[in-house]
Amino acid sequence: MTTNDLNAIEVASLDKWYGSFHVLKNIDLCVSSGERIVVCGPSGSGKSTLIRCINRLEEHQRGSITVNGIALGDSVKNLDAIRRDVGMVFQHFNLFPHLTVKENCALPQMLSRNTPRRDAEERAMSFLSKVRIPEQAEKYPGQLSGGQQQRVAIARALCMTPKIMLFDEPTSALDPEMVKEVLDTMVVLAEDGMTMIVVTHEMGFAKRVADRVVFMESGEIVEIGKPDVIFEAPTQERTQNFLQNIM
Ligand code: ADP
Ligand code: MG
Repeated sequence: MTTNDLNAIEVASLDKWYGSFHVLKNIDLCVSSGERIVVCGPSGSGKSTLIRCINRLEEHQRGSITVNGIALGDSVKNLDAIRRDVGMVFQHFNLFPHLTVKENCALPQMLSRNTPRRDAEERAMSFLSKVRIPEQAEKYPGQLSGGQQQRVAIARALCMTPKIMLFDEPTSALDPEMVKEVLDTMVVLAEDGMTMIVVTHEMGFAKRVADRVVFMESGEIVEIGKPDVIFEAPTQERTQNFLQNIM
């Protein structure tokens, strides 16, 4: 594969094992800058593992991953550079329970960027406004709804000025009535041109936002295509079977 300046992420011939379990099998995926990718597939198919490899929360054993032209190798320096560019939002919001919402957003900037508190808090407030919960800034995560907590997690990630955002089933732990407010926030982000990889089974979101949908099963990419093709006319039987079960 040739390196393309426009590619935000290049995954080439990627293999990963957990012990003897072959969890990712020969994965190839190029994501261009500004592209929105939705990843779906059955539970256990390796979706989380794949996106966790992209910011090195997991190590791969074979193949290569390049993020904004920086190869994810053994170098700690490269790892720092990649973590700086890549924000991640998890299914369980992973907020600090003993910090206020504003502090949750400000502290990471102060600790890893040496941003002065005043600037960090100002930035926190601007992103809390962006996700439309500035009035919650002085509360603790436990005092917020799940949907609000997830929007704090998104604001916290955005405070670090990522160039790429990875979302791992950001709405699957939420009560149904809170899913929309989180997806709406992600749509705004997509419209701003953020490069995004989103693991989700929210078809409406995928149809509205995704440039391409990746369907994974048993550690393999079975099919990649535009949302209307994947959802309306998938070519692979495994994709068809999966979609029948979730639609
Ligand atoms: P998905 O996100 O698609 O549900 P995962 O990437 O979480 O799938 O997991 C893929 C497979 O790898 C599953 O069979 C899971 O049990 C296994 N797995 C995930 N994390 C670990 C781990 N840390 N150690 C061993 N096996 C794991
Ligand atoms: Mg997962």
